[in-house]
Amino acid sequence: MSPTPTRVTAVDTYDIRFPTSRELDGSDAMNPDPDYSAAYVVLRTDADDGLEGHGFTFTIGRGNDVQVAAINALRHHVVGRRVDELCADPGTVNRDLIGDSQLRWLGPEKGVMHMAIGAVVNAVWDLAAKRARKPLWQLLTDATPEWLVSQVDFRYIADALTPEEAVGLLRAGREGATGREATLRERGFPGYTTSPGWLGYSDEKLTRLARQAVADGFTQIKLKVGADLADDIRRCRTARGAIGPGIRMAIDANQRWNVGEAVEWTRALAEFDPYWVEEPTSPDDVLGHAAIRTGVAPVKVATGEHVQNRIVFKQLLQAGAIDILQIDAARVGGVNENLAILLLAAKFAVPVCPHAGGVGLCELVQHLSMFDYVALSGTTENRVIEYVDHLHQHFIDPVVMRAGHYTAPTAPGFSATMRPESIAEFTYPGGSFWAADLASDKGAAA
Ligand SMILES: [Mg+2]
Repeated sequence: MSPTPTRVTAVDTYDIRFPTSRELDGSDAMNPDPDYSAAYVVLRTDADDGLEGHGFTFTIGRGNDVQVAAINALRHHVVGRRVDELCADPGTVNRDLIGDSQLRWLGPEKGVMHMAIGAVVNAVWDLAAKRARKPLWQLLTDATPEWLVSQVDFRYIADALTPEEAVGLLRAGREGATGREATLRERGFPGYTTSPGWLGYSDEKLTRLARQAVADGFTQIKLKVGADLADDIRRCRTARGAIGPGIRMAIDANQRWNVGEAVEWTRALAEFDPYWVEEPTSPDDVLGHAAIRTGVAPVKVATGEHVQNRIVFKQLLQAGAIDILQIDAARVGGVNENLAILLLAAKFAVPVCPHAGGVGLCELVQHLSMFDYVALSGTTENRVIEYVDHLHQHFIDPVVMRAGHYTAPTAPGFSATMRPESIAEFTYPGGSFWAADLASDKGAAA
């Protein structure tokens, strides 16, 4: 008699918020006071291996409860499913979640519901990688091109990339993969740091952190811009003075501008040699990005952290609207959709420089870039993963930076598992930090 198959027994969710707004960490022109938060999900099973699938999506405070409610709405698709089938083919759960016709009305494939799907799908991949006893990047690089392509939903993108082309890209990507994997294990994947450049920091703090970034081995930093032009000119001059001419400096407007304003503002900062301008305008404005790209060249145009799905990425690429594609591990529908986006980027030969920071986004997205390097694009040239030195201590398997590079993770999984004591402390509003904080607010108001 065959043993009873193990199944998913619970999909538990947590509203976790960190009080980051008190230090102005993460402040930019559109988001002056974020409380970095995670809508967090844990898949539990009745297997006796004790393994769980962890996933999350990132928000910046209020609304994290809405995001958690969206994840809860997906629970019935996952509870009761066979663990072996789920982990052998995460694409099935991806398709089932996207295909829930009643929930699909809330998108389709965008916004809160789509981010919830991403959290659940990524939790499945975390569980699959843990069961395979591999870090996720290695599970992906060890997979066959045909299986990887079976994980991608080509609906709405087949006009730009067919499954046959995708198999071809992945077959070509395997040539030399063994050598690149050895290089990755030895050197890691290059990062750049946003830590010096938050808008709320003083010039003194900017200078100190920019110098520190260079001393730590980073070859690129990023500055938030877009609130006040005179301030931006002063801050860009200060930062350029601190890092010297040989280090790349990107600027990030976090969607602040209209198209014409984006061109004028970026040109006004051109003397400080910005490498790219990030999120100059609405992430939905494909043709606007194309116009900005023409207007600010040779400064490059980058976007993606708020691009809602593979279809908008397809259009940005088809329109020649971006020089740099910025995937985010927790904005779209999880690993499956990011595979589609990485394949589109490879087809159009646009470098991928992921968005990270937030809560745990560095931990997640490093796996996707490392897969891209070893088994798809085959290069780290002009490719860097964002790095923010922030909140990593809450994770069991935090990123390890060495000489400005992300070290390849060795622990099985997607590096998504948060420390239980952090969950207990920062769950909102009942965790120990928030309970005490809200009680003292009440005391102050009385
Ligand atoms: Mg950004």
